Amino acid sequence: MLHSGVHLTRGQIASRLGITRSTVSEVLTDLQEEGAVVVSKVTHSGGRGRPAEVLCANPGAARYIAVDYSHTRVMACIANSTGQVIASGTASYSPDDGWERRCRAGIELARGLEGDDVHFGALSRIAIGLPGPNSATWDSGLPSATRAEPFHMVSARIRELFSQAFGVGIMVDHHIRLAALAEASAGRATPIRNLVYLRMSTGIGGAVISSGSVAQGAHQQAGEIGHFIVQLDDDALECRCGRRGCLETVASIDALARDWAHLKGQAPDRAAFEAAAAERDPDAVALLEVAAQRVGRVLAMAVLVSDPGEVVLAGEVPRYLPDFVERVQAALWPSVLSTQHVPVRHSNLGEEAGAIGGIVALMAQQRATEPQKEASMSPNRLEVTGAPRVG
Ligand SMILES: [Zn+2]
Repeated sequence: MLHSGVHLTRGQIASRLGITRSTVSEVLTDLQEEGAVVVSKVTHSGGRGRPAEVLCANPGAARYIAVDYSHTRVMACIANSTGQVIASGTASYSPDDGWERRCRAGIELARGLEGDDVHFGALSRIAIGLPGPNSATWDSGLPSATRAEPFHMVSARIRELFSQAFGVGIMVDHHIRLAALAEASAGRATPIRNLVYLRMSTGIGGAVISSGSVAQGAHQQAGEIGHFIVQLDDDALECRCGRRGCLETVASIDALARDWAHLKGQAPDRAAFEAAAAERDPDAVALLEVAAQRVGRVLAMAVLVSDPGEVVLAGEVPRYLPDFVERVQAALWPSVLSTQHVPVRHSNLGEEAGAIGGIVALMAQQRATEPQKEASMSPNRLEVTGAPRVG
């Protein structure tokens, strides 16, 4: 009850729950001892009765941790029971680092955020977002060390390591799916129930929200729009998924920077390409226009399959060209039914979207399992829910 952010006296809590005041006091004393509940003020009724303590959830008590892994860095956000982010941080690693090192970095990062104002005594659960398809191996000692290790195998091991470190329930999902969940629900009075989401950064990842649920798929890979093959010739480049010619190999930041450097006879340099795009260098603009067209055509398939209400583009690439989104829309519309001429727009959230989505997912899971205990934590199922207060 207090987790919803209300302030109540012991008497008010007892009458709302319909249980005795002594039982309520016993439970609240335990919660106060573990730091989950604090006294927000003391009220005097004016009569001869004892002053009543008004209790609320401790705003500094960490309830949820969301850990978001990209190919090069891990971000951790700590949220209290109302969903407010009370601490966050990032740590970088090499794309060549295996999952043991990445897990260690994530665990150390999260632990390092505990301090005077933030404590983990009432921690309830942790969400971990992973990039996919799996781009890293395990550093040592584990049987599979291939790039193609299935998502569920990687996620099971990561879940185990975090569970040992924190002793709470862990959910693991694709970080783009969590970001899409944040886009659809964080801070919104009315969540978006049908959405196609594409993040164009150093990789290209997608997610589809259909009838309020984020599609997971039989192999946890629903929405991998970035791995639609758009180039079939012999020059097609190898993708991190192990195949050739995926959208990601022609429209990600690295791909665009590489192609632009090739045109200029220079070594690939992301910063130089970004500067050229900002200065409207004709070669950079032409590459981005082709990328927008390809993205629009690939998105058409996702729109035909899922019939979304809108399409959202996240990541750095759509920001390189002022009319990138309009160009994607212009390429998309002729390839879908006229009733599916849905708007294409920029994401409202930044780099923290994956972590915020993790908190959104944990809060939904918490609501779904209450009043049962933690043991009955449901399997991962990401659903668009009300409007949790995040950030
Ligand atoms: Zn691929």
